[in-house]
Formats: sequence, structure tokens, C-alpha cells
Amino acid sequence: MNMEQPLLELRDVTKVFKIGGGLGLVGRRLIRAVDRVSFAIPGESPIITALVGESGSGKSTIARLILGLLEPTSGVILYKGRDVRSWLKSDRVMYRREVQVIFQDPYSTYNPFYRVERVLHMVIKKFGLASSEREGRDLIMESMRTIGLRPEDLLGRYPHQLSGGERQRLMLARILLIKPKLVVADEPVSMIDVSLRSIFLENLLDLKGRLKMSCLYITHDLNIAHYVADRMIVLCLGNIVEMGEAKSVVGEALHPYTRLLVRSIPIPDPRRRWKGRLQVEDITFRGFQAEQGCVFSNRCPHAMPVCKEETPPLIEARPGHKAACFLYR
Ligand code: SF4
Repeated sequence: MNMEQPLLELRDVTKVFKIGGGLGLVGRRLIRAVDRVSFAIPGESPIITALVGESGSGKSTIARLILGLLEPTSGVILYKGRDVRSWLKSDRVMYRREVQVIFQDPYSTYNPFYRVERVLHMVIKKFGLASSEREGRDLIMESMRTIGLRPEDLLGRYPHQLSGGERQRLMLARILLIKPKLVVADEPVSMIDVSLRSIFLENLLDLKGRLKMSCLYITHDLNIAHYVADRMIVLCLGNIVEMGEAKSVVGEALHPYTRLLVRSIPIPDPRRRWKGRLQVEDITFRGFQAEQGCVFSNRCPHAMPVCKEETPPLIEARPGHKAACFLYR
């Protein structure tokens, strides 16, 4: 692969869903879940790119488009310079091997009737990773130990006998066996215990270096994105509103929506007495989407007349740091 060529590239990708509609399709609505989204994951060195947004921002739709579970309404998704649709048509097995996924819900990932060893052995068989039973078993033991799972405790167990954290880390052991080039991780820690999240994230960072593997990390949690990611893309109602180095996006947020997200991160203050429930700024604004112009214009404290009329392009306000906002024009 040409190292300058992106590993993954989305060019002007739009996904429109048709919702509802009875006989004669009266009442049918069109939902633009992803709106002319363009970004690239470079091919030269492994990188974790966080795709951040609240629920309904289009981030999981983007994951499903990349995995080929949905087709774009317009635009194109390229993997190693070639349309994903063409990969799935003529090189499906290779694409499935090189682009792996970790879904949010570890409970639904596994066949409840398969023991741990069978889950991993199926991968070895499917991709021809071992030449004998014994070699396959050695690979399973090694991959589990590398992730910090004890085969002597877990082999022989069914998925429901593992904790949520163990189930997600078993996905990482599976990834270690497959050695993909890209992992799409869709909210992988949101359903596991808070105290176990950092173990999973450390494992993921370790795999990034060990396998030279890139990751598209999808999350609503800016703290996690900041911790794990090199680059960050902020989505608002299906539109990219900001992108750049993760530290820069969180530390020096440009877009008013990103600033709102950053302000909503709860910061523990030991001097403050705890009274009642935790107050987090309400950032939910579905239903407030502007009909035209900037998607954030109905909630933006800086909105100007032009914001209601034109869609702001992504503007490079600092080197490598872009925001879709007229404040930087
Ligand atoms: Fe606010 Fe206008 Fe910038 Fe949109 S383009 S975020 S409305 S200032």
C-alpha cells in the first residue's frame, strides 16, 4: 500500500433514512443522519481517531457505513483507495479481516451457546491462522494472556459466565489473533463497569502499538476520547463541526458546540460539598436543528444573520485544527 494513501477515507458521505409513511407513503419523513461527511485516517502510522458526538449525531451510522452494513445515499468510502462496496463484492473475507469491529454491547456479541475457546477457535479456522489444533490452542492461550485474561479461569466458560469487562477484552484477544489494520470501536466501554474501563483502554492502546493498528473510536464521552485518541472529530446532527489533534480540540475548542461539550464534562472538586444530584449542562438539542445554514444556529450564543442563511465550511483556524463556524472566516 502507498503509505501516503489514507487507510480509510470518507468523501462527502451522506446517509438519508426514510422514516414512516403509510399507504401512498403519506407522512413519510426524511432524516439526514450523516451530511456530507469527509475525513481520512492516514495510512503511514497507526492512529486512534475519536468520533465524538451526542446520541443522534450520526456517529454509529458512520460506523455501519464503514463496515458495509449500510450503503451511503451519496458520497464514497474508500479503504486503501478502493470503494468499500467493491471490497465487499470481490474481497469480502480480506476486508472483514482487515477491518474489525467492537460493538457497544458485549452481551449481544457472542453466541450464548459457544464457550470461550470456541469463539476464538472459529476465528482461527475462518482466517486460517493456524496449521494444527495444537498451534491454534497455543495462539488462543497467548492472545488471552497478552490481554491479561487467564485462560485457566475462562476457557470452558460460556459468555454469560464472564463479566462485561471480560467479554469486551475477549474481543481484544480476538483482534490480537486477527491482526486487523483498522478497528471500528463503537462505544466499547459504555456498558462495562467504570472501574474496569481503563484496563480496556490500556489494552487498546497496547494493541495499537503492538499490531500497528489504527482505530476509529466512537464515543459520546469527551473524557475517554481525550484519554485514548490522537485526533478527534466532533459531530453535531450528522455534520462535522470540528476536527484536529485531540488535545487541541479539548484544550482549545473552537466551535461553540464543542465548547458546550467541554463545559459539560464534570470536574471533581474536593472542596465542594456534595448536595443533591450532579448537574451537567444540558447539551441535548434534537428538535432545535436549523432548517438551513449552520446546524447549531438555533442554540448558538454567537449566531449571526449569515449563520441562518449559509452552511459554514470547515475552516482551518489553527494549523491542523478546523471548525465549521463563521467566527473563523
Ligand atoms: Fe454559531 Fe454561526 Fe458559528 Fe454556527 S456558524 S456555530 S451559528 S457562530
